Amino acid sequence: MSALEKYPNLFSPLDLGFTTLKNRALMGSMHTGLEEAEGGFERMAPYYAERARGGVGMIITGGIYPNAEGGSGAKLSTSEEALQHKLITDAVHAADNDVKICMQILHSGPLARSQEAVAPSAIKSRIAPHTPIELDEAGIEKQISDIVNCAEKAQEAGYDGVEIIGSAGYLLSTFLVEKTNQRTDQWGGSYENRMRFPVEVLRRTREAVGSNFILVFRIAAMDMLQGGMSWDEIVQLAKRMEEVGVNIISTHFTWHESTVPTIATMVPRAAFASVTGRLRKELSIPVITSNRINMPDVAEQVLLDGHADIISMARPMLADPDLILKTLEGREDEINTCIACNQACLDHTFTGQEVSCLVNPRACHETMLSYTPTDKPKSIAIVGAGPAGLAYADVAAGRGHKVSLYDAASEIGGQFNLAKQIPGKEEFFETLRYFKRRIEVAGIDLNLNTAVSAQTLKDKGYDEVIVATGVAPRTPDIDGIDHEKVVGYIDAIKGLKPIGRKVAIMGAGGIGFDVAELIMHKGVSASQDIDTFAREWGIDFKNHPRGGVTGVEPVVESADREVVLLQRKTSPVGRGLGKTTGWTHRIALSRRGVKMVNGVDYVKIDDDGLHVLINNEPQVLDVDTIIVCAGQTPLRDLHDALQQAGQNSTLVGGAFEATELDAKRAIKQACELAAVV
Ligand code: FAD
Ligand code: NAP
Ligand code: SF4
Repeated sequence: MSALEKYPNLFSPLDLGFTTLKNRALMGSMHTGLEEAEGGFERMAPYYAERARGGVGMIITGGIYPNAEGGSGAKLSTSEEALQHKLITDAVHAADNDVKICMQILHSGPLARSQEAVAPSAIKSRIAPHTPIELDEAGIEKQISDIVNCAEKAQEAGYDGVEIIGSAGYLLSTFLVEKTNQRTDQWGGSYENRMRFPVEVLRRTREAVGSNFILVFRIAAMDMLQGGMSWDEIVQLAKRMEEVGVNIISTHFTWHESTVPTIATMVPRAAFASVTGRLRKELSIPVITSNRINMPDVAEQVLLDGHADIISMARPMLADPDLILKTLEGREDEINTCIACNQACLDHTFTGQEVSCLVNPRACHETMLSYTPTDKPKSIAIVGAGPAGLAYADVAAGRGHKVSLYDAASEIGGQFNLAKQIPGKEEFFETLRYFKRRIEVAGIDLNLNTAVSAQTLKDKGYDEVIVATGVAPRTPDIDGIDHEKVVGYIDAIKGLKPIGRKVAIMGAGGIGFDVAELIMHKGVSASQDIDTFAREWGIDFKNHPRGGVTGVEPVVESADREVVLLQRKTSPVGRGLGKTTGWTHRIALSRRGVKMVNGVDYVKIDDDGLHVLINNEPQVLDVDTIIVCAGQTPLRDLHDALQQAGQNSTLVGGAFEATELDAKRAIKQACELAAVV
C-alpha cells in the first residue's frame, strides 16, 4: 500500500484560499535558544531547512518578541532585525518552495523575566520572577501596535505568515481570564471587554498585513487552570477570531503555571485531540491540534476522526527531521521517535540552555555535528548495545564504516530495557525499535549473547574498539547490605525478587522515583489510556468545566503498599529530576501516598528493618524490603583487560563516566565520537 493510500488525510493538501499547504503536517513552534545565541540565525537557517526538506507542509518558528516588554531575547521590530530572519525564510524556501514558514509572535506578558514585564493587572504569576506593571490605556495601545509592527516586519522578512500566541499565561491570554485581569475599564470586566485586547491585536494585524498572509491564532482550548476559561468563552473567542480574519486556529492546552502534565511522556498520545475536535465543529476555518502526536499513524487517526485539519508535531521534528519524508517513502519503522522525555528540549529551554534532543543530538546543532560519509572505512567493534553503543553503531555505520556490535545480553538496549518497564515510559520501546531497524538497514553485524573477550577483540584486528559496557548498580557500604530484605533495582524492576508491603527505597534519583512508580502502580498505565490519565490528573474532557479541571478531584489507584523514598542530601527530594517533568513525578508519587524523606543517614539493616538517623534522631524503619537505587559505577573490566592485552579502546557512555549519567549524555557523546572516527 502506498503512503498516499495509507495516510490519505495526512498527505492531502489544504487550500487556504490564497495559498495551499501541501500536507497536514506542521512543525509546531519551539524556542531553540538559538534565537538569542551569537550566530544563532546562521544555525537556525539550516535547522529549519533540514525540516523543510524532511517533508512538513508548514513550519512555525520559535517565539519572537515584538518589543522589550514582551521578553528579554530575540525581538523583531526593525527592518535590520528582519534581515536576520531572511536567512531563515530564504533557506526554507530554497529547500522546498512549497513549504510555508510562519513566525510565532510571543508577548510573554507577566511571564517575561524582566522588571519591565507588563500585564492587564499587576498580578504576579506563581512561576514568574516579578510582579508585572499594570498597563495603562496608552501602554495597551503600544503593545497592540508593537505586535502589529512585528507581524509587518515578519512579512518583510519573507515569512508566509505569523502565529500569534494567545495562550499559556502569556500577555493575550491574561486579558481573557478574570484572575489575571481585574480591570474595570473597556479592557476588563465583562468577557466582551476581556476579549477586546486579543481580538484587537488580530484584527489590526490582519488590516496591516493584507489578506494574502497566513494568520494563525493560538488559543488555550483547555487552559488547565482552576477557574480558567469556560468552554463557551473559548468558542466565542475562536469565532471572533474567525470574524476578524484569522486563517487558522491552533489549539494549545495549558498555561505554564498549571499542575497538569500535557506533553510529558506519561501523557497518552493525542490525549487532547478530542478537545480540538469539539472546537472544530464550531468553526469554518481549519484548526490545528497538538500534544503527544509523535507518529504518522496517530496523526492520520486524529485527522480521520475529524478532530483537526492540521497536526502539529513539534518535538517529533527535533527527534527526526525526516519524519514525514520517511512516512511518504514507507519507512515509518526508521523514524526516530520523540519519547517525550523533555530532557534535551524543554528542560534546556527552561534552564537557559540551547535546545537539542536526547535521541538526536544533531537537532539545533546541524552545523556543528555532521555525519559525513567516510572516505576511509574502518572495521569497528563496539561492545555494549545500550544507548551509547547503539548510537555509536548507528552513526559510524551510517557513515560507511564496517561495524560489529556485541552484547552479552539477549537483546539490545541495555538499561533502556529497564526503563521501558516503568509505567509511563512505554515510549522507550520506540527508541529500541528505531535502533533495531537501523541495525538492519545499516548492515551492522549484531552479536547478542556474546560476552566477547579482550583477546578475541585483539585477535580480530579491528581498527577501533569501542567499549560501551555501561554501568553496574552501586552497593552502599552499610552493615547488613547482604540481608535478605535487600533487593537491587534491577531485580526489583525485572520482578526477580519478591517485594513486600512495606518498602524503603534507598536513593531518590531518577531510578528511585521510577522504582517507586513501578511498585505503587496498579491497573492500566495512564499513558496508555486517556480515561485513566484524565482520572489520575483530575481532567474532565467531556463536560469541560472551567479550565477543564475546575472542581475535578484526581483519583489515583495504588498498589497496597507503604513506601518511603529516602535520600541522604538535605535538599528537597526529587530536586535533581528534570526541570519540566520532576514536578509531575513528585505529585504522582505523593498522590500514591509515597513518603519522601531527606537528610537520612543509613546505619544498618537487620531483621527489624532499616536503621537510620533522620535529623540525627535514630529511627528504625520497619520495612519488609529495602530496594537499593543508590546510583551506579562504570563497568570497565573489559576496557582494563583490553589495555592489558595492548589493544587500544575508547570508552563511551556509562562506562566512560557513571556520575550524572543519563541517556542524553550517553547518546550525545557516542554520536560526537562516531562523527569523527
Ligand atoms: P547501558 O545502558 O548500561 O548498556 C550497556 C550494555 O553493555 C548492556 O546492554 C550490557 O549488557 C552490555 N555489556 C556490559 N558488559 C558487557 C560485556 N563485557 N560484553 C558484552 N556486553 C556487555 N536515562 C535517561 O536519560 N532518561 C530516563 O528517563 C531514564 N530512565 C531510566 C530508568 C531506569 C529504570 C533505568 C535503569 C535507567 C534509566 N535511564 C534514563 C538511564 C539510561 O538508561 C542510562 O543512562 C543509559 O542506558 C546508559 O547507556 P550505556 O549505553 O552507557 O549503558
Ligand atoms: P542518581 O540520580 O545519581 O541517584 C542516585 C541516588 O542514590 C541519589 O538519590 C543519591 O542521593 C543516592 N546515593 C548515591 N550514593 C549513595 C550511597 N553510597 N549510599 C546511599 N545512597 C547513595 O542516579 P540513578 O537514580 O541511579 O539514575 C541514573 C541516571 O539515570 C540518572 O543520572 C538519571 O538522570 C537517569 N534517569 C533519569 C530519569 C528521568 O526521568 N529523567 C529516570 C531514571 C533515571 P543521596 O546521596 O543524597 O542519598
Ligand atoms: Fe522528544 Fe526527548 Fe528529544 Fe525532547 S529531548 S524532542 S522530548 S525525545
